[in-house]
Amino acid sequence: MQVDHSYARLPSVFFQPWQASPVANPSWLAFNQQLATELGLPAQQGQTEQGLLQFSGNAVPDWAKPLTQAYAGHQFGQYNPQLGDGRALLLAEVIANNGKRYDIQLKGAGPTPYSRGGDGRSAIGPVIREYLVSEAMQVLGVPTTRALAAVTTGQNVYRDEPVPGAILTRVASSHIRIGTFQYIAALGNPDYVRQLADYVIDRHYPDCQQRENPYLALLGQVVSKQARLITHWMRLGFIHGVMNTDNTSISGETIDYGPCAFIDQYQSDKVFSSIDRRGRYAYSNQPPIALWNLARLAECLLPLIADDEKTAVALATEALQQFQSQYEAQWLQQMAAKLGLSQTEASDKTLIDDYLQLLEQQTVDFTLGFRYLSGELRAGADIKASDLFANTDAFSTWHQRWLARLAEQALSYTEVADRMDSVNPLLIPRNHLIAKAIQQAEDDGDLRFFQRLQQAWQTPFASTSDADLIAPPKPEEVVHRTFCG
Ligand code: AMP
Ligand code: MG
Ligand code: MG
Repeated sequence: MQVDHSYARLPSVFFQPWQASPVANPSWLAFNQQLATELGLPAQQGQTEQGLLQFSGNAVPDWAKPLTQAYAGHQFGQYNPQLGDGRALLLAEVIANNGKRYDIQLKGAGPTPYSRGGDGRSAIGPVIREYLVSEAMQVLGVPTTRALAAVTTGQNVYRDEPVPGAILTRVASSHIRIGTFQYIAALGNPDYVRQLADYVIDRHYPDCQQRENPYLALLGQVVSKQARLITHWMRLGFIHGVMNTDNTSISGETIDYGPCAFIDQYQSDKVFSSIDRRGRYAYSNQPPIALWNLARLAECLLPLIADDEKTAVALATEALQQFQSQYEAQWLQQMAAKLGLSQTEASDKTLIDDYLQLLEQQTVDFTLGFRYLSGELRAGADIKASDLFANTDAFSTWHQRWLARLAEQALSYTEVADRMDSVNPLLIPRNHLIAKAIQQAEDDGDLRFFQRLQQAWQTPFASTSDADLIAPPKPEEVVHRTFCG
């Protein structure tokens, strides 16, 4: 295994060396052997006692040099100068078989200097959620942190009531956030910001080195990555739920699966998170919020972009303005693909918007509303989108327009339907299914449903007979609120 500790070579104000606190009685929840292989981890870590000790924080692997990272952040628009890894430990960076560098981090391994009164632990529920959803996102083609391992600790944590504690081992291209830049910028030493920016360029965006203004180019790269990421979320009906600047990764990966959820019945301003009372992080608000977060990054980079503040602001503003146009172009392309259109025209936006409006008006499931559209093109399909609409007239009017648009493409209906099925998943990590897996694991330590979901969500686009995993929740199963955990 190829290991490095480049973050530990940054100025010591960026982090603190730290150790995990041991736990009473660790036990495996899951181990991601495929990811372990890609990372070049020693074989059989998922089966050995030694692996269990390492991924529970009870033993420090000889390749680790654990530290906690400092960061700040805007939480629901309010600046908090002191956040940091309150329950996470960076063990090491690994150079994977693909040549890329990844952080290996324990989450829930005990209090750190940044815990701010928190217990430094995770409950089993959020660990199961993050394991399932982050691995599903990967397969759905969304940039994301990954889940390498999950263990229970044998100790309870207190979240309104005692619940089993657990630790997730998270893998990320890095854990550098917009909030990391905010923390470093607030230290007031411009050299530190430059060192962080140079580190990020070297690690994530080496092409920027060749550009006339590398730091402006860096901002442009992060803008593009966020535009791309948010497009993916929107095309899948994913609501992150806690888009604070400390949860916005510089690499453009989805990070922090606390109160996240996928939409069932489509509602454009849908909110799940119990603490998002004003809907700041509602589904439809995700693009403007990403831009707001990027503006906070731009503020940190201004002194590097130009000596003269006015010039720096003008250049940064121009870079930020790219967000909207890039987002809109990618959204149009990806949403059009969901309707079977391989080339887009500006007028396709109306066709897409009108379909979304139909879904919303008739409370149709977002995922199935798109997936079963292909059934309209296949002779003798078992199920078609029109079956989901109560008012079939409204659907048929739209359907006519859609077929007319498809007719402009030189593709057979079967070809179009096949393409649609490759971008419209049949299975998504529905919240009521996650809740059921958590319940069974919490109540009786029964991991079978958790394991079944892991397996099923590895092939989200395939047809399957797992009717209970396809169906939207029954009224009594609907999860209305999610929690940070
Ligand atoms: P989040 O809302 O999950 O992004 O977390 C915001 C901040 O709270 C981060 O600095 C976390 O490290 C910290 N935090 C969250 N949960 C805990 C916990 N149980 N113990 C200590 N710190 C925590
Ligand atoms: Mg966080
Ligand atoms: Mg969190």
